[in-house]
Amino acid sequence: MEEHEAANNAAHPTTGPDFIRARIMDDRASGRFDGRVHTRFPPEPNGYLHLGHAKSICLNFGVAREFGGQCNLRFDDTNPTKEETEYVESIREDVRWLGGEWEDREFYASDYFEQLYAYAERLIQMGKAYVDDLSAEEIREYRGTLTQPGRESPWRNRSVEENLDLFRRMRAGEFADGEKVLRAKIDMSSPNVVMRDPTLYRIRHAEHHRTGNAWCIYPMYDYTHCLSDSIEGVTHSLCTLEFVNNRELYDWVLDTLGVYHPQQIEFARLNVTYTVLSKRKLIQLVREGHVKGWDDPRMPTLCGLRRRGVPPEALREFCTRIGMARADSIVEYSMLEFCVREWLNDHTPRLMAVLDPIKVVIENYPEDQVEMFDMPCHPEEASFGSRKVPFSRELYIERDDFRLEPPKKYHRLSPGAEVRLRYAYFITCREAVLDKTGRVSELRCTYDPESRGGQSPDGRKVKGTIHWVSASHAVPAEIRLYGQLFAVENPNDVSEGGTFLDNLNPDSLTVVRGMLEPALAQLKSGDRVQFERLGYFCKDSDSTETLPVFNRTVTLRDTWAKLEKRSTQASGHDLLAAGVA
Ligand code: ATP
Ligand code: MG
Repeated sequence: MEEHEAANNAAHPTTGPDFIRARIMDDRASGRFDGRVHTRFPPEPNGYLHLGHAKSICLNFGVAREFGGQCNLRFDDTNPTKEETEYVESIREDVRWLGGEWEDREFYASDYFEQLYAYAERLIQMGKAYVDDLSAEEIREYRGTLTQPGRESPWRNRSVEENLDLFRRMRAGEFADGEKVLRAKIDMSSPNVVMRDPTLYRIRHAEHHRTGNAWCIYPMYDYTHCLSDSIEGVTHSLCTLEFVNNRELYDWVLDTLGVYHPQQIEFARLNVTYTVLSKRKLIQLVREGHVKGWDDPRMPTLCGLRRRGVPPEALREFCTRIGMARADSIVEYSMLEFCVREWLNDHTPRLMAVLDPIKVVIENYPEDQVEMFDMPCHPEEASFGSRKVPFSRELYIERDDFRLEPPKKYHRLSPGAEVRLRYAYFITCREAVLDKTGRVSELRCTYDPESRGGQSPDGRKVKGTIHWVSASHAVPAEIRLYGQLFAVENPNDVSEGGTFLDNLNPDSLTVVRGMLEPALAQLKSGDRVQFERLGYFCKDSDSTETLPVFNRTVTLRDTWAKLEKRSTQASGHDLLAAGVA
């Protein structure tokens, strides 16, 4: 790809290329890294990927694609006790789903254990690393604070020979967990606490998901991460802001060893309102049963969003829109919904479902008659085709589309009022039948046979258009309506003694029994659709032969406001769009 083209693609709608892409362009212009661009997405396989990771995936794979480079998928699997193969598999699936393409470049930090060990011996031989007998707690104590320098360990000045011998015996399993560590010999009075002789290796007699029991010492994340990037020839090591202080250590490790040195660039973490994006908290939600699993459609995990019906294209658009900032900020959840709506608006067929049914009997329609209406699946896009929708004497309409006592400007159904049934007929309500509790149980209506197809026979105006399904043909379905998982904008904002769990929204899931037009029952799990006037929905994998299940991906609210301007048929839909239940 030509440079200017890359610049265009990388451009943020209003501000031009972001600071990361601008720096990469500079590096290319100056011939640094021979003009190569090589990035990586480096998850720790200790949880499922979430919205925050989407930002990193889009950045790393996006940059590689735009500059004609490559992006590796690398599992930073240095912690044997928290990592599982289940996570590796889910990460692969999620990255692929988002459009990440790593070809044969799937790497594991654990593949480098032997090389990392050799580097550690080299550091020892250079007098730049030593084996320490202090306990973890003592090391913490000796480290000092931001305002106070640390103290040197009494074991800091062991000879190279003794260090080498001890380190080899650590590897051979002669010591217990925590008995010794290997530390870098840097500077105990450095203003950067990270530089105060950080631990490079610790003893863990634990089985690793890939290396099994081959090792009982494991390299620390910081030591492993920078060397893995170096080994892979990564040019631009993009990471989040919390690693700013670690950069000095990475530089020290790479320069002391004299190995290839990637350029690290930090960017802001993504935070989203009404959401937590910490793996620890997400694990807690799953383990304690606050949600139904990692892929619960209320979760901000990629598998949760996917199950909810969020298309990867919308997520990529979201990541483009939020841009790359150097300072932390919080993005509105509604921004994500906006992107989802926008994509679904153009890419999903529109069919009819009634979520809170009320029966309508059309008194002047023949008892046994069934008409099949051929209805377009999208009002503007012919490519969605059409489907047959049965119409008969008994129908369901949305309870919210009827009012016994209509407010002013209510254009839907009420006693004596006339309304258009989408693509079918005009009907007039003659009587509302109430049950013992005073609730409407049935509407007795008449239709105008001359209004077939929903066309006015004589120019008379009917403002309201409502959706419907034929009662005897309707397919019952379970519909899951989701709200925010958390009731407050910042769930991490908790009062004294509280936890983020106190901010859970008790009404984040409402399940209703709806009625679908027959064509909807034909959809496959994962298919996305608009239920006319109600929102976008996705067929769930919990569906059975007899009971389809649909997740509401997002409401229509914003889309409908736009449509209303275009069409005089629509009215009052905001109430419905806000969610019928
Ligand atoms: P957590 O802090 O929740 O445990 P993590 O950052 O440790 O998450 P990793 O598996 O190490 O999770 O993340 C892989 C990559 O994704 C890293 O490069 C990390 O910087 C990036 N990443 C993680 N969370 C976010 C976020 N909220 N916004 C942007 N990038 C993120
Ligand atoms: Mg991390």
